[in-house]
Amino acid sequence: MTRTLTILGATGSVGSQALDLVARNPGRWQVEALTANSDVAGLAAAARASGARFAAIGDAALHGALQAALSGSGIETGAGPAALCEAAQRPGDIVLTAIVGAAGLGPTMAAVNRGATIAIANKETLVCAGPVVTAAAKASGAVLLPVDSEHNAVFQVFDHDRPDRVAKIILTCSGGPFRTRSRAELAEVTVKDACNHPVWSMGAKISIDSATLMNKGLELIEAHHLFPVGLDRLDVIIHPQSVVHSMVEYVDGSVLAQLGSPDMRIPIAYAMAWPDRIATPATRLDLAQIANLSFEAPDLARFPCLQLAWDAMRAEGSAPCILNAANEVAVAAFIAGQVGFLDIDTIVAETLARVASGPVGSIEEVVEIDRAARAEATVQVEMRTR
Ligand code: NAD
Ligand code: MG
Repeated sequence: MTRTLTILGATGSVGSQALDLVARNPGRWQVEALTANSDVAGLAAAARASGARFAAIGDAALHGALQAALSGSGIETGAGPAALCEAAQRPGDIVLTAIVGAAGLGPTMAAVNRGATIAIANKETLVCAGPVVTAAAKASGAVLLPVDSEHNAVFQVFDHDRPDRVAKIILTCSGGPFRTRSRAELAEVTVKDACNHPVWSMGAKISIDSATLMNKGLELIEAHHLFPVGLDRLDVIIHPQSVVHSMVEYVDGSVLAQLGSPDMRIPIAYAMAWPDRIATPATRLDLAQIANLSFEAPDLARFPCLQLAWDAMRAEGSAPCILNAANEVAVAAFIAGQVGFLDIDTIVAETLARVASGPVGSIEEVVEIDRAARAEATVQVEMRTR
């Protein structure tokens, strides 16, 4: 049976791997809508190749360019934030949210509010607005299927009927490219070093987050909202080979894990085909060749972003939103060459210390807190700009 699929952030790392799966499985998915931020050529090519009905570009100034690139194709076009939400609202079975950052909040909420099945990769939306998103999903009947490899792994081994039997959720973490570096060595790293992840090939922002371990911090908060077993039942362990994608420990001491080669097409395929399983071109796991799997505790002193995220998760309310917004600003400044790698955790900590936090009850409040945190983080960047 053909299911209709919309991909928000279709030109990115996750979006293009999803489109690869669509192309390999003719007849399984009919693409309804695709979106991108500014890559008109990439969006137009993806829309033509996948037979999409609607293509939306986030930058409103690029509407003319998108119309020109799709002329004669019969594909409808839209531009600007409202068009991204329209893409999410159009009828369809599955919405894959693969936009990076809090920019995914509006379109994700549009899909949640219409009760869609959502394959959620855009973790920042859950971090900044988790309680609002999950409450809206409950009200509309939307189903949230995690794409993030760790959460997808947990989803696969989680006892959804008896969550009270879960003793612990253990997220694995590769440790990133700087796992063995000292703080002094970290001061000198470049954007290129930080994006050169030893295991996964991903977009720039999540690659930097993996290097600071903020990614694992965001994932803790993401897990807290997707699997609400309690803050004290969440844990992180470093596992450089990225073969065990995460684990669930049960009250009897049994630990269930999902393993696989580090290829995002496995969790993307799982979420897009759920509750079915489909073949993927991912390399089969050859444990004899890998030979050794190792584990170690994370070092929160060398990687304070993970501690900051842990603290923000415990503080709840607006703290995770402030953490996320400050991190987005700091990472963008690092990518732009304005600040150093070690300034990222400082900017996040200083922003958390300066922006008043409180409870969050609505999307409007999330948007306002996100704005205030970005303004403060921008001041913090300017104070450190080289
Ligand atoms: P990416 O940078 O490769 O792609 C991002 C996509 O979002 C692009 O299509 C881009 O056009 C769009 N986009 C960017 N800014 C936008 C904006 N302001 N408004 C609208 N659209 C915008 O990112 P990615 O690596 O594919 O990651 C996407 C999301 O998936 C992130 O939240 C990331 O944390 C999560 N994720 C990614 C991976 C991975 O392997 N890449 C793994 C797990 C989770
Ligand atoms: Mg992950």
